[in-house]
Amino acid sequence: MSAVQQIDAIIVGAGFSGMYQLLSLRDKLGLSAKVLEAADGVGGTWYWNRYPGARCDSESHSYMFYFSKELVHEWEWSERYPQQPEILRYLNYVADKFKLRPDIALNTRMSNAQYDEATSRWLVSTDTGERYSAKYLITAVGCLSSANLPKIEGLKDFTGQWYHTGLWPHAGVDFTGKRVAVIGTGSTGIQAIPVIAAQAAHLTVFQRTPNYSLPARHAPLTPEFKQYAKAHADDIYKIMTTNTNGHPFAIVDRSALAVSSEEREAIFEEQWKMGGFQFRAAFNDILSSQEANDTAADFICNKIREIVKDPATAELLSDIDHPFAAKRPPIDADYFETYNRDNVSLVSIRQTPIERITASGIKTSEREYAFDIIVFATGFDAMTGSLVKMDINGRDKRNLKDYWQAGPRTYLGLQVPGFPNMFTITGPGSPSVLCNMLPAIEQHVDWITDCIRHMQQKGLDRVETTEQASQTWQQEVDRAANATLLPKVKHSWYLGANIPGKPQVFMPYAGGLAHYREICNNAVAQGYKGFEFNH
Ligand code: NAP
Repeated sequence: MSAVQQIDAIIVGAGFSGMYQLLSLRDKLGLSAKVLEAADGVGGTWYWNRYPGARCDSESHSYMFYFSKELVHEWEWSERYPQQPEILRYLNYVADKFKLRPDIALNTRMSNAQYDEATSRWLVSTDTGERYSAKYLITAVGCLSSANLPKIEGLKDFTGQWYHTGLWPHAGVDFTGKRVAVIGTGSTGIQAIPVIAAQAAHLTVFQRTPNYSLPARHAPLTPEFKQYAKAHADDIYKIMTTNTNGHPFAIVDRSALAVSSEEREAIFEEQWKMGGFQFRAAFNDILSSQEANDTAADFICNKIREIVKDPATAELLSDIDHPFAAKRPPIDADYFETYNRDNVSLVSIRQTPIERITASGIKTSEREYAFDIIVFATGFDAMTGSLVKMDINGRDKRNLKDYWQAGPRTYLGLQVPGFPNMFTITGPGSPSVLCNMLPAIEQHVDWITDCIRHMQQKGLDRVETTEQASQTWQQEVDRAANATLLPKVKHSWYLGANIPGKPQVFMPYAGGLAHYREICNNAVAQGYKGFEFNH
């Protein structure tokens, strides 16, 4: 057994959040830190999600670190929405520029973490046999990193190939001449379907819940825009950090119901042409008023019926049962247009459920389909999946998975009662997935770094949030969600409803990133209200 290595902090995960946390602890506070990363490269979500068509839905000039002006000015994005390989290149560039690699242990999974009350330290072991004693344990595991492979009977009998989009092979998959099935029409499926359709002999899409999607209008960035984004970096950052969603545009302060239907239609039309999430930001009540939301939903459903030529297919795609944007809306490149191709067909598994996977394909209640390749675009055990998979044991041997049996309990999504000196970057109870992730990550890392600086300066051994603070925070998380239409989607991963048996609790904080930042700052101003420190 290897000797226990003494270190200030263990960080789990080498994506955006883990790398920025490492840099902050090491270079701003002068602490020793080690990142444990299961993959053989940095990148986190963007290391694993290599499926065809994978791109970010935040615009490239906002999906980057802003903590370093030099980095902002050095890096150049090529497209409006960056593709996965470009984001991975960016993350590798960051790792090299800030010399992070020596402090990242790749191919290393944290297998167990145990808090030791006698020393106020975390004892961490890895699957490679390393052991650490660390004052701080920081999870940077991402919100959408634990792939959800549905338990459909018969998968082991399938003689073709199958893949989950979140665990895509590095060598890629050649769909040429193949009969392909895609199960799932969330953001991932909607990105992958047009690309697979362009290659496959035939593509059959299995849709459970029809989904809204907005055109992304992908395009290379012009030299003028690149220059503008650099010259106005401070202004862009200010917009991102002072609005609800962390995107580089503000929500227009007008109700969808305060304008005439002609004016509203013209505004939606203009946004549809521009593409992206700005559509959702055209009015301020799309996510809070059902009536306002209906106007956006009707507009999109009419577009689907206009685009899709076969009326039966159009009907299946536009028969949407939830408010627009109450699930994170996908943005796409010719998604609905793809159903006009001769080699694409759509099966509603609401109408004809999948019964089983067979040796040669998929059998629904209606018939059997033959496939060479099945692609599961079936999402993630979101927000908590990766955290509870790790064997984390806090004070009094409190196990995280057991403690969260009835749903995640956190204060501000930053700390969990009973888990002293553990911080969860973009943990459940924080805005995270309801935002552009980058400003959310930077805000969390900065807050955690400041808290650790405070402890180091004051010679404090331990910080732990209280049960009371976490209960009060959960009430605020529920209040904020209930002020929106988000909880109306009963099958959403925001609620954990996509995972059979997972407790259904609305997990992200819907009060908006700017408001949340204020709450976090106020807690500090009030002497870290909701946290207790010990010498
Ligand atoms: P998702 O939104 O959870 O979608 C999963 C899809 O699989 C849904 O259509 C779901 O149907 C279906 N499904 C799940 N289990 C099934 C089963 N047992 N049988 C049949 N169908 C099943 O997952 P995702 O598309 O991977 O997206 C997750 C999140 O990742 C997004 O909301 C977004 O935040 C992020 N993302 C972002 C980007 C981007 O930046 N552009 C790209 C991809 C993903 P139901 O709806 O009926 O459950």
